[in-house]
Amino acid sequence: MVIQTGSFENLDHTESSHIENELLTAIARSAEDLTTGRGWPKGVDALLADLGKITNVSRVWIFQTLELEENHILQDYAFEWASKPKYKQIGLPSFNRFSSNTKEPEYISLIESRSRGEYQHVIVDQLADTWLKTYLSNQKILSMLTIPIVVENKWWGTLGFDDCERRIEWSASEIALLRTASFLISSAVLRDTLSAKRRQLDILKRITACSAWELDIRRGHLWCTPEILSNVSKKSNNLQFSFRQCLRKVHPEHRKRFFQLVRQFRQNNDQSFRCDLRIKRDSGDYRWIELTSKIDQNGDVLAGILLDITMRKEAEDRLRHEATTDPLTGVLNRRKIESLVQEHIEIYNKKKETFSLVILDLDHFKTINDTHGHSIGDKVLCHFTQLCQHSLRKIDYLSRIGGEEFAILLPNTSEEDALIIGERICQNIQDNPYIQLNKQIPYSVSIGCSTLKDEYLEVHKIFERADSALYLAKQSGRNQVRVS
Ligand code: GH3
Ligand code: MG
Ligand code: MG
Repeated sequence: MVIQTGSFENLDHTESSHIENELLTAIARSAEDLTTGRGWPKGVDALLADLGKITNVSRVWIFQTLELEENHILQDYAFEWASKPKYKQIGLPSFNRFSSNTKEPEYISLIESRSRGEYQHVIVDQLADTWLKTYLSNQKILSMLTIPIVVENKWWGTLGFDDCERRIEWSASEIALLRTASFLISSAVLRDTLSAKRRQLDILKRITACSAWELDIRRGHLWCTPEILSNVSKKSNNLQFSFRQCLRKVHPEHRKRFFQLVRQFRQNNDQSFRCDLRIKRDSGDYRWIELTSKIDQNGDVLAGILLDITMRKEAEDRLRHEATTDPLTGVLNRRKIESLVQEHIEIYNKKKETFSLVILDLDHFKTINDTHGHSIGDKVLCHFTQLCQHSLRKIDYLSRIGGEEFAILLPNTSEEDALIIGERICQNIQDNPYIQLNKQIPYSVSIGCSTLKDEYLEVHKIFERADSALYLAKQSGRNQVRVS
């Protein structure tokens, strides 16, 4: 005799017996608790006890399949009811997250049968003298019925009935009813898994500002949990949008890129998608969010999370700002102006669009410091940058490249125009001396200009030429502009 296995479809139902009626009543009693999820885990214990008492077996148990690989299966003894204390096995070290090798052909076929969703019925003394007979005999089992518990089409675990006192011949109707019991358990497991997932999401939401969302690609419907977007209305229900409404929430500057990314994602048949963008909350302000998502197996639902990364983006902006600006005056620093000059050389190479570089050095600045103090010197430096800015166009870049030394990049500007701008700055400073406590502190600046030419297509060369023009201006008496 081999193990008797079978699919439930072929069970031959006979007239219901007393036991079957009792089973039906017990199952009906557990149904509400288990399908609503209230009965996890206690309701499962109660159901196993009912089934055990009605069928008069020694033990009812549930093994959970934790890992199933080619040569190995890891299971846990999840639930048990025993008719007598001596039949109790749960908690024994050998059944606590126990791992088995699946080399035995008998065991392999047993697992395959369970994975297919079939039941297995064994009368131990009718088994051939192989591994399974030894294994069950060691546990003093005379007969065993096992029914797989299937959750979301996967073999989640096994519901088992051991008898150590009799050899039970199960009727087809009894097996069918016990299968219904396994369905109820599946439903409770599924409920528990979902609420575990909900709890995980709640933890995530508590420690990070995030929302979950899902897009039905075919219908273009999107729902999103309210945490990030509903900061005024404090809605607790999911927000529902059409894809078009969702696009309107994206900051206008990001819409085009977002759309491109979505299209690229669709064209490449990618599995996951992520981007950073700004989206509008119901208060009307924008937050930076990181959008991550994964497509489901069928390719028609895209689901993911929105993470509020505004603080991170602001910190990055601050760092970027600090890396490119001068802390005293707030204008660009040397590193930034040099990279801008490099960029404009590249523009010149492509489009022959020239530019001028102007270097400015305050005259006798040491005397200002010595006469009025270093802090007044600082204020003069700030006053100077403000006046410069008033003399410049929006497209020009002002930078501080040393103590009292500045450089201006004038895009698309000829030598003549650079000279005019330089003179305008000198005049502006002369007309607007720095005023401290109603006292004028006049100062002046010397300026050297160089305009990009084919012979000087390198950053340091352009700076050198502007520097030598500045030297000329200093030599010629200061407070003037020279070109090289
Ligand atoms: P010149 O007309 O030849 O340029 O004379 P100068 O005195 O401006 O030139 P010099 O190089 O001799 O002196 C520059 C002075 O600028 C010396 C230094 O103390 C001052 N300085 C540099 N950085 C700062 C700063 O951040 N704040 C203040 N207040 N002074 C500064
Ligand atoms: Mg100097
Ligand atoms: Mg100076």
